[in-house]
Amino acid sequence: MKAQSSKHKTPKNFVDLNNARPGHSYHSVISNIVKDGVCPFCPDKLAKYHKNPIEMKGKFWLVTKNMYPYTAVKHHLLLIHKKHIEHISEITKDAWLELQRTIKKLSKQKNVQGGSLMLRFGDTHFTGASVNHLHAHIIQSDPDHKEYKNPKTMPGVIARVG
Ligand SMILES: [Zn+2]
Repeated sequence: MKAQSSKHKTPKNFVDLNNARPGHSYHSVISNIVKDGVCPFCPDKLAKYHKNPIEMKGKFWLVTKNMYPYTAVKHHLLLIHKKHIEHISEITKDAWLELQRTIKKLSKQKNVQGGSLMLRFGDTHFTGASVNHLHAHIIQSDPDHKEYKNPKTMPGVIARVG
């Protein structure tokens, strides 16, 4: 199965190994997905690559905990668009609406007093994302985590913005 979007010039896999940190176990996970040649977030493949339960399922999105959460987080949830799309321009009005409702519901349910919403889209060469299939992250960091106390181990997220 090939990516549906014709807007992307980088002919590719469904994942970007360049954006998985070398030496990290996630790198070998992505490497295996490259070999399998499938999209790990498409509904028919998700269960094979993602072992966390689906916490919420709507018409357009499903919610699950990230299998590989960033360091020093209280919550790291993924909101995965059910249909394989890669670009933000492909999100329909109804899907946006559902995303908004889902975020509201989640932040209440998980008691997220402060957090970040990250949605990278399109060519991963520009975004730092490792999975092309469109998904959003909701992250609540843990500022009391020991990694935040040491500037050398300051945990970070790779999201290229400029
Ligand atoms: Zn997909």
